[in-house]
Amino acid sequence: MHRIEVTKGQRILSVGEEGQCAYIVEQGSVRIEDAVSVLKEYTVGPGEMFGEYGVIPDSPHYCVATAEEDSLLLVVPLEEIEEKAKLSDPMVSLFLNFFMDRCHSLTERHYHEGSTEKITSPNRRSVRDKVNKNRDELVEIFKTKEELERAVDQNEFVLHFQPIISLRGGFTAGFEALVRWDHPDRGLLSPFHFIDIAEQTNAIVPLGEWVFEEACRHVAPFNKIAAEGGSPEIFVSINISAKQFAVPDIVDRFKKMIANTNVNTSHVQLEITESVLMEDTTHAKGILHQIKDLGFQLVLDDFGTGYSSLNYLHQFPIDKLKIDRSFTHTMLNDEDSCEIVRAIAGLAHNLNIEVVAEGIEEREQLSLYRDLDCHYGQGFLISKPLPVEKVYEILGTRMAI
Ligand code: C2E
Ligand code: CA
Ligand code: CA
Repeated sequence: MHRIEVTKGQRILSVGEEGQCAYIVEQGSVRIEDAVSVLKEYTVGPGEMFGEYGVIPDSPHYCVATAEEDSLLLVVPLEEIEEKAKLSDPMVSLFLNFFMDRCHSLTERHYHEGSTEKITSPNRRSVRDKVNKNRDELVEIFKTKEELERAVDQNEFVLHFQPIISLRGGFTAGFEALVRWDHPDRGLLSPFHFIDIAEQTNAIVPLGEWVFEEACRHVAPFNKIAAEGGSPEIFVSINISAKQFAVPDIVDRFKKMIANTNVNTSHVQLEITESVLMEDTTHAKGILHQIKDLGFQLVLDDFGTGYSSLNYLHQFPIDKLKIDRSFTHTMLNDEDSCEIVRAIAGLAHNLNIEVVAEGIEEREQLSLYRDLDCHYGQGFLISKPLPVEKVYEILGTRMAI
């Protein structure tokens, strides 16, 4: 969006002109001669919009707009509306497309009733095809959203738990809860097949809450078995999507889930990504502090892949950061990644933040992380994610590191 200044008497729009934007009057007033509305002439003032046909793909303008006085206008480009529509809830996007298309058809019909002039653009058919295609995609997304929500209701999701060991002793320190979909027709599906679409459709909110409660239910039994074997306390680490943080009553929802599961929150870690911190820093800081006050530890996941602005780390109540597995994969052969890992570990130590190394598949990687004095390690070398029965078999064991 940008602003333009227009002077008294200046023509802003003409009928039939190709539209690529709409206008909102910020200051001043604009006289409209409308070729399609019942009201043939009217004036729009601050806060009002005109030229709205400009944001219907490939639609011409149907009015003459002239500045009645020197005015300031906000220009709303078509691309920006299209961009925002893509990011919105699919239902909103579908309605928007539908109404714009319907509005265009009605207006065209109405215009031609009283006019001999034809202003239908030859591209209109291709635009309509595009709208229909988007509509088909959106219907597909709806179906998946519904299917995901149904699957939550039908209890089709299961959790696997991947061990996280202490690199300072080799014992099992905790587990990351990772969701799988036990699909009735397609078998056990990894998050690769559904997490992105769950995020896109907001189905991640009910799914994430299911994951949270289900993971919490295992916290006490895991700790009981560990304690019986004389092992240290066990934490369970749960991935929380940025979409869940956007829910207005997130803190109350956590309180409710804690009450439902009666979990000891000091044994629970929440894994968040940098996007949560970047959205709106002041808001994020407030929410994270309230969540920490509930007793959870906070882990910054996939560190190094996002903005990775090391400056802001100290502003947030982060307890641990997870070095992304892409660094683990390259650090033995690539000097730069090795230096980055070294720098992250050094900084985290200075800030009193613990480091979890992800994606450890080889002994040498484990040794390097241990030499860098990183606290925890996770990866296929240690163990793949396990179904819950297998967790009980390894609780209390220690890896020789
Ligand atoms: P993530 O949070 O980075 O989780 C770690 C992923 O790395 C898991 O994949 C795990 O199986 C895999 N992994 C662990 N060790 C190794 C290794 O040594 N090598 C390699 N190549 N991979 C390793 P998974 O279970 O397929 O999950 C993928 C992603 O899906 C997760 O990445 C996380 O972003 C998301 N996800 C999983 N469960 C949940 C959930 O309950 N809620 C949310 N919001 N996201 C989830
Ligand atoms: Ca994670
Ligand atoms: Ca990760």
